[in-house]
Amino acid sequence: MPVKGWVEIDPIYCKGCELCVGACPQGVLAMDMNILTSKGYHLAYLIEDGCTGCAICAIVCPDSAITVFRETPSRKTIENQIEVHA
Ligand code: SF4
Ligand code: SF4
Repeated sequence: MPVKGWVEIDPIYCKGCELCVGACPQGVLAMDMNILTSKGYHLAYLIEDGCTGCAICAIVCPDSAITVFRETPSRKTIENQIEVHA
Protein backbone atom coordinates (compact mmCIF):
# COMPACT_ATOMS: atom_id res chain seq x y z
CA MET A 1 0.00 0.00 0.00
CA PRO A 2 1.57 3.37 -1.00
CA VAL A 3 2.24 5.81 1.80
CA LYS A 4 -0.22 8.66 1.81
CA GLY A 5 0.79 12.12 2.85
CA TRP A 6 -0.36 15.67 2.64
CA VAL A 7 1.01 19.11 3.37
CA GLU A 8 -0.26 22.35 4.82
CA ILE A 9 1.32 25.60 3.71
CA ASP A 10 1.17 28.58 6.03
CA PRO A 11 0.19 31.75 4.13
CA ILE A 12 1.89 33.83 6.82
CA TYR A 13 5.31 32.43 5.90
CA CYS A 14 5.07 31.40 2.23
CA LYS A 15 6.77 33.96 -0.02
CA GLY A 16 5.91 32.33 -3.34
CA CYS A 17 9.47 31.36 -4.27
CA GLU A 18 8.32 28.10 -5.97
CA LEU A 19 11.27 26.07 -4.66
CA CYS A 20 8.90 23.46 -3.25
CA VAL A 21 7.09 23.12 -6.59
CA GLY A 22 10.31 22.25 -8.40
CA ALA A 23 11.54 19.95 -5.64
CA CYS A 24 8.46 17.75 -5.21
CA PRO A 25 9.27 14.35 -6.80
CA GLN A 26 5.56 13.59 -7.22
CA GLY A 27 4.74 16.86 -9.00
CA VAL A 28 1.78 17.54 -6.75
CA LEU A 29 2.60 21.11 -5.74
CA ALA A 30 1.78 24.24 -7.70
CA MET A 31 1.37 27.96 -7.18
CA ASP A 32 -2.19 29.20 -6.76
CA MET A 33 -2.36 32.15 -9.14
CA ASN A 34 -5.80 33.09 -7.80
CA ILE A 35 -4.62 33.79 -4.27
CA LEU A 36 -2.40 36.52 -2.91
CA THR A 37 -1.22 36.33 0.68
CA SER A 38 -1.34 39.35 2.96
CA LYS A 39 2.23 40.05 1.86
CA GLY A 40 1.27 39.94 -1.83
CA TYR A 41 2.70 36.54 -2.78
CA HIS A 42 1.06 33.66 -4.60
CA LEU A 43 0.66 30.67 -2.32
CA ALA A 44 1.90 27.14 -2.97
CA TYR A 45 -0.72 24.41 -2.62
CA LEU A 46 -1.30 20.68 -3.05
CA ILE A 47 -2.99 20.17 -6.43
CA GLU A 48 -3.92 16.48 -6.25
CA ASP A 49 -3.52 13.17 -4.46
CA GLY A 50 -0.14 11.51 -4.73
CA CYS A 51 1.82 13.18 -1.94
CA THR A 52 3.92 10.54 -0.18
CA GLY A 53 4.87 12.69 2.80
CA CYS A 54 8.54 12.54 1.83
CA ALA A 55 9.07 16.06 3.27
CA ILE A 56 11.47 17.19 0.54
CA CYS A 57 9.33 20.28 0.03
CA ALA A 58 9.57 21.16 3.71
CA ILE A 59 13.34 20.69 3.67
CA VAL A 60 13.89 23.03 0.71
CA CYS A 61 11.43 25.69 1.88
CA PRO A 62 13.56 28.62 3.06
CA ASP A 63 10.79 29.96 5.29
CA SER A 64 9.65 26.77 7.04
CA ALA A 65 6.15 27.36 5.69
CA ILE A 66 5.32 23.69 5.05
CA THR A 67 4.09 21.14 7.55
CA VAL A 68 4.07 17.54 6.31
CA PHE A 69 1.68 14.85 7.49
CA ARG A 70 1.91 11.10 6.85
CA GLU A 71 -0.82 8.55 7.23
CA THR A 72 0.45 5.54 9.14
CA PRO A 73 -1.29 2.16 9.08
CA SER A 74 -3.26 1.46 12.23
CA ARG A 75 -2.06 -1.26 14.58
CA LYS A 76 -5.19 -3.24 13.81
CA THR A 77 -4.43 -3.17 10.07
CA ILE A 78 -0.87 -4.39 10.64
CA GLU A 79 -2.07 -7.23 12.86
CA ASN A 80 -4.63 -8.25 10.22
CA GLN A 81 -1.91 -8.33 7.54
CA ILE A 82 0.27 -10.55 9.74
CA GLU A 83 -2.63 -12.95 10.23
CA VAL A 84 -3.33 -13.06 6.50
CA HIS A 85 0.28 -13.82 5.59
CA ALA A 86 1.02 -16.21 8.48
S1 SF4 B 1 9.31 26.83 -0.84
FE1 SF4 B 1 8.17 27.67 0.93
S2 SF4 B 1 8.14 29.88 0.62
FE2 SF4 B 1 8.68 28.94 -1.36
S3 SF4 B 1 6.69 28.69 -2.44
FE3 SF4 B 1 7.10 26.78 -1.34
S4 SF4 B 1 6.03 27.01 0.64
FE4 SF4 B 1 6.23 29.07 -0.26
S1 SF4 C 1 5.86 15.78 1.07
FE1 SF4 C 1 7.01 15.09 -0.77
S2 SF4 C 1 5.41 14.30 -2.17
FE2 SF4 C 1 4.37 15.55 -0.60
S3 SF4 C 1 4.19 17.59 -1.51
FE3 SF4 C 1 6.09 17.57 -0.29
S4 SF4 C 1 7.73 16.97 -1.74
FE4 SF4 C 1 5.75 16.48 -2.69
